[in-house]
Amino acid sequence: MRILIISDIHANLSALVAVLSDAGEVDAVWCLGDLVGYGPDPNECVERIRHLPNLVCLIGNHDAAAANSIDIASFNDEARLAVLWTQSVLSQSNLEYLQGLEPEKTLDSVTLAHGSPRQPIWEYLLDTRTASQNFEFFDTPYCFVGHSHLPVIFQMQDGQKNADLFIPKLESTLEMSPRAILNPGSVGQPRDRDPRASYAIYDSDAQTWLYQRVQYDIPSVQTRMRAKNLPQRHINRLSTGW
Ligand code: ZN
Repeated sequence: MRILIISDIHANLSALVAVLSDAGEVDAVWCLGDLVGYGPDPNECVERIRHLPNLVCLIGNHDAAAANSIDIASFNDEARLAVLWTQSVLSQSNLEYLQGLEPEKTLDSVTLAHGSPRQPIWEYLLDTRTASQNFEFFDTPYCFVGHSHLPVIFQMQDGQKNADLFIPKLESTLEMSPRAILNPGSVGQPRDRDPRASYAIYDSDAQTWLYQRVQYDIPSVQTRMRAKNLPQRHINRLSTGW
């Protein structure tokens, strides 16, 4: 199966549409959470995603915040503003959809988690130490995570104590080897100084990972954010991918 792996859409419909079109025909879509938060199109993104065929979708911290399932005290002021705005516009049916999602799921040879297998909602896997500790929290050969908005792979072979971190080569099919934690990067708010939308294609038969970036119309998203009075910093960061 050719499976599209997406995460951290963050209510950016233009980026989501660009990714779905660039990915072409796929057999399934696995979405690792954070459909909303930051961006101007929460309802449009939830609707677009929830109606995708053969979808597996997790809840992320921003979805949980918008769905009122977690305390937002730890969010910074601007993120909190974005959450409150999202709550004010989210339709009842989209709200209920988000509330029904789980933060972690195991499918055949892959565990899916929004943040990490140890703490699916909150933990960021940004360094090899934290990632290494997480390998004992899943049993499958692979774990796919989002949340950090960074397209990285943590690899830990048999006998290794510490995982290696590497950034996959763009547009080059990578033969996966167990065990590994893989992150497809963020669709709607990249944070690796590349503003293009990020995603991956996982081929479950060939056991390969294809990391991709696609350009989308960033100014149109910024115009919609301005019209909705969303925080200026979130508007600016889309241009720099940070
Ligand atoms: Zn996120």
